[in-house]
Amino acid sequence: MEHPENNKEYKGLQVNNGVASQPTVNPYRRTRKARQLSVNDYVEGILKGNVSILGRAVTLIESTADAHQAVAQEVIEKCLPYSGNSRRIGITGVPGAGKSTSIDVFGLHVLRQGGKLAVLAIDPSSERSKGSILGDKTRMEKLSQEKDAFIRPSPSAGSLGGVARKTRETIVLCEAAGYDNIFVETVGVGQSETAVHSMVDFFLLIQLAGTGDELQGIKRGIMEMADGIVINKCDGDNIQRAQLAAAQFRNALHLFPPTPSKWVPEVITYSGYYELGIDEVWGMIDRYFDYVKKTGYFEKKRNEQAKYWMIETINEQLKNAFYHQPEVKALLEQKELRVLNNEQSSFTAAKDVLDFYFDRLRK
Ligand code: GDP
Repeated sequence: MEHPENNKEYKGLQVNNGVASQPTVNPYRRTRKARQLSVNDYVEGILKGNVSILGRAVTLIESTADAHQAVAQEVIEKCLPYSGNSRRIGITGVPGAGKSTSIDVFGLHVLRQGGKLAVLAIDPSSERSKGSILGDKTRMEKLSQEKDAFIRPSPSAGSLGGVARKTRETIVLCEAAGYDNIFVETVGVGQSETAVHSMVDFFLLIQLAGTGDELQGIKRGIMEMADGIVINKCDGDNIQRAQLAAAQFRNALHLFPPTPSKWVPEVITYSGYYELGIDEVWGMIDRYFDYVKKTGYFEKKRNEQAKYWMIETINEQLKNAFYHQPEVKALLEQKELRVLNNEQSSFTAAKDVLDFYFDRLRK
């Protein structure tokens, strides 16, 4: 082909002959795609404690694809008979309270006693930012190198209810894989704590001293949920303040109604960073489990939680079925406009949409 650039008179930029592009960087390299696993492959792998298969199964739980969900639900169903045999411990505290530092040392403490530990997280920010700030492997440096620790960040997308359900399902798989200690971490403003509380046996609140107004800014509801309150950073010149805060918390707890288990929440000071008082914190947790197993509250609470999760799952799925229905979506948009323009009240608009939906179901 004749190009003006090839003319001797041409003074502009020269174009050199191109080099034929290589078909591939390395023609011998085979692209390795993970083999598709059947439901039984997943279940067998999980029951053998295969971490990579467990990880892949959790990814299925987190997937929004219908095909993945169908496999995930079957895997969960088959793992259920092997689940339940663990201590489920919820851990919460404001950012900077020392959750990751503490989970690192608490986790090592648990592993030294000869168990296996899964660390899961529910991140309330994921709903908005679609990103995860909690449960990141790098936050727990020591634990992430332990072969008996499985650390999984929060499912990163979806409603808090959806994220919580996935974490609850992940607990089932982890237990079937032999993890006999499950930590569920969260940070939040109440709602995510309630979600974690509804899936654990023991709820630990990590607090800080030294802010002068220890009891302010803590939602009363979160304190009421706590089975144990631990004051972190009780080290160096912070010891006195931490002990003072502990006394204040103990006083405040006296004013609360008795917990449903009749267990009296304990308040303990410790230092996650200097690893001081870890035995005491864990001693409290051991005492709690001994107590609730003796009184039967352990079973009772687990049964109540199972019922709660059944209803929550129904609620979630009903909502999804409703809002994802294309005709309902279209009608909702119309109704929204009418409500905004004051042409119809919110209540009659809602009734119209619901009537439409139920009419369609009947047909
Ligand atoms: P998280 O946001 O709740 O996970 O808190 P981190 O574990 O990341 O801790 C926040 C900061 O507090 C870090 O700089 C830690 O090194 C520090 N920290 C954590 N635990 C202790 C402790 O027991 N004593 C002291 N002095 N500092 C601590």
